[in-house]
Amino acid sequence: MTEICLETKETSRWPVQVIDIHQDRDIDRLNTIFKELSPEERLRAFYENASLKSRKVILTSSFGTTAVYLLHLFYRQTIRQEVVFLNTGFHFNETLAYKELLSSNFDLHVKELQPEAWKHSFARKQSLWKTDPDLCCSVNKVEPMLQIKKTADIWISGLMGWQNSHRRNLNIFQRQEGILKFYPLIDVGEDTVRQYIEKWDLPIHPLKPLGYESIGCRHCTFRGKGRQGRWLGKTKTECGIHR
Ligand code: SF4
Repeated sequence: MTEICLETKETSRWPVQVIDIHQDRDIDRLNTIFKELSPEERLRAFYENASLKSRKVILTSSFGTTAVYLLHLFYRQTIRQEVVFLNTGFHFNETLAYKELLSSNFDLHVKELQPEAWKHSFARKQSLWKTDPDLCCSVNKVEPMLQIKKTADIWISGLMGWQNSHRRNLNIFQRQEGILKFYPLIDVGEDTVRQYIEKWDLPIHPLKPLGYESIGCRHCTFRGKGRQGRWLGKTKTECGIHR
């Protein structure tokens, strides 16, 4: 049984709850409470809760076109959380430069995960993204992520529902293979993100002005609206780490 107190220093409008994060009923209760909160309030409620923040928490970022929104929310609230970046070895140089820029601007500590060298080398030599993109993603993304997932209780991710049909069906809190996923932005609209980035004059990914709206590995990313440019011409829509 994990005790989760949802009372913050600033307000007591969130009642104290005792929640077992392995129980669907209790996760539903968490979702009901957090649904009423803004993304900022969700982060604050999470990190002011002793039993939640004391768990092993990971935060991932792809440093894509919308990543700056969540990272800036952490920065504004002076929440220091290590950022995990899955370095597949196939990123655009622009993404790596953007990661360095945001890390410097927001004083981020970034931990890079990398695939096993021999498997990555095999994927590279075989151009696996052409012949078997699922295997390529498995080797370069899913497997490295599995290693860190084993060490964590809660995984915070900036997925948003408007990005595709799979994400549209996700809730703020979801259990996934023994870990609790926390999606504080899942119900945030595309316009809200754009307006936030404009309001705070945040740096944008250098490929966004060139027509790339969603950015992953360079072999599988093309210009396009939303996530249309990801795995263009293939039925694949997700790499598999969020399944
Ligand atoms: S996104 Fe493409 S290049 Fe990157 S791991 Fe998946 S299949 Fe390979």
